[in-house]
Amino acid sequence: MKPNMIEARKRTTIKTEYLEYDNKINKLFNGEKYFLRTYGCQMNVHDSEQIRAYLENLGLEETDTLEKAKVIVLNTCAIRENAHDKVFGYLGRCKHLKEEDPSIIVAIGGCMSQEEGVVSEIEQKYPYVDIVFGTHNIHDLPNMIMNAKGNQDIDVYSIEGKVYENTLYKRDSKITAWVNIMYGCDKFCTYCIVPYTRGRQRSRKSKYIIEEVDALVKEGYKEVTLLGQNVNAYGKDLEGEISFAKLLESVAKTGIARVRFVTSHPWDFTDEMIDTIAKYDNIMPYIHLPLQSGSDRILKLMGRRYTKEEYLNLFNKIKNKVRNATITTDIIVGFPGETEEDLNDTLEVVNTCKFDGAFTFIFSPREGTPAAKMEDNTPIEVKEQRLYKLNELVNKYSKESNLKYLNKEVKVLVTGVSEKDEDKIVGYTEEMKLVNIEGDKDNIGKIIPVIITDAKSFSLDGKVKEEIKC
Ligand code: SF4
Repeated sequence: MKPNMIEARKRTTIKTEYLEYDNKINKLFNGEKYFLRTYGCQMNVHDSEQIRAYLENLGLEETDTLEKAKVIVLNTCAIRENAHDKVFGYLGRCKHLKEEDPSIIVAIGGCMSQEEGVVSEIEQKYPYVDIVFGTHNIHDLPNMIMNAKGNQDIDVYSIEGKVYENTLYKRDSKITAWVNIMYGCDKFCTYCIVPYTRGRQRSRKSKYIIEEVDALVKEGYKEVTLLGQNVNAYGKDLEGEISFAKLLESVAKTGIARVRFVTSHPWDFTDEMIDTIAKYDNIMPYIHLPLQSGSDRILKLMGRRYTKEEYLNLFNKIKNKVRNATITTDIIVGFPGETEEDLNDTLEVVNTCKFDGAFTFIFSPREGTPAAKMEDNTPIEVKEQRLYKLNELVNKYSKESNLKYLNKEVKVLVTGVSEKDEDKIVGYTEEMKLVNIEGDKDNIGKIIPVIITDAKSFSLDGKVKEEIKC
């Protein structure tokens, strides 16, 4: 089915179907290899953990080498820059491989396959792609692979709402785990493609979420991150479900050492949530709170549903109630019609909040969204200068935030070995600061006290405080 964004936009309600997934094992392949490449956000990374489990249920084994693969799966992104180019670059390489061995199966999934126009582009220009699947029907991938017969099989559910329980994941980590609590988003910010590619909001039933976290605790996981495009709208689409604050509390009570959540929308951030975060020591005091713009005029054009003043009130409330609250944000510059005055409003909020970190972007129109149709007369060079100015400020506060930790003791959950220096281990503080640590690899998977010895713009260095390991 081809995506129809206008249709999706018009629908005001959806009826979510709740289903149990049949994780049958069908060893169609006998140790042959699969290659899986993932683009984009945590949601896609977590979807790939599901894809990996399904592929291995078919008897496939993972390879990092495209040329060795019998099954190639590209899990794509519709938001991140260059993601399209990279995917189409891979498809070029796949074409040569398919010419040599037509039995290779090439599959494309993820958000990009649900973007308007992409399916027809694949049909016309990449006929050797065997399977196109969407974010809603990942569970269909095993069947699509088993039935791949050399014809292009396109099955992209653009708007149907289904929530599957009993799905399998082959998780990237044995220490930290993503737990989806909802899918899709109902906010329809005017620049955002997510409600079109991921569909309307569908919350999982809380019972299954708690069962999943309980199972992770039993397996020895130390941290869960509750995942959703707009986590704090959790439950609003389900009659009789608990609020996000109550869900957070229930997850904290499972006894997991650390609970995190991404991403929150300021509009859905309640006092109940703030009180819950403040009450439980195992709910981490790290909050990602997207600002997007500090100009009321631009916020309105973006459809963000809050003003600069409301954002600042919320920010202060969190800072006042949650001990050591660390707040990061997302900011877009160069939104259609943005003036220097609008930018100054944004810079003023950054100067007021002194964010611990920020992801900054130049507005990039996504086809099919209302913002893509807005008049945009600002030259790209001007937008780049604005981004530069914003980044200078953001980086200054990010460095200042890190400097506060110098010579202090922090608790770090050690997640692995440093990619840059294999003699070091790495992990995250409660406030989500990345720390490179001089220390023993035996500490991986433990929460340990670390003394910070150096503060950089985007990370900290530290050494293990040996005497009090927990
Ligand atoms: S809340 Fe987030 S995911 Fe939802 S439409 Fe807005 S930007 Fe997109």
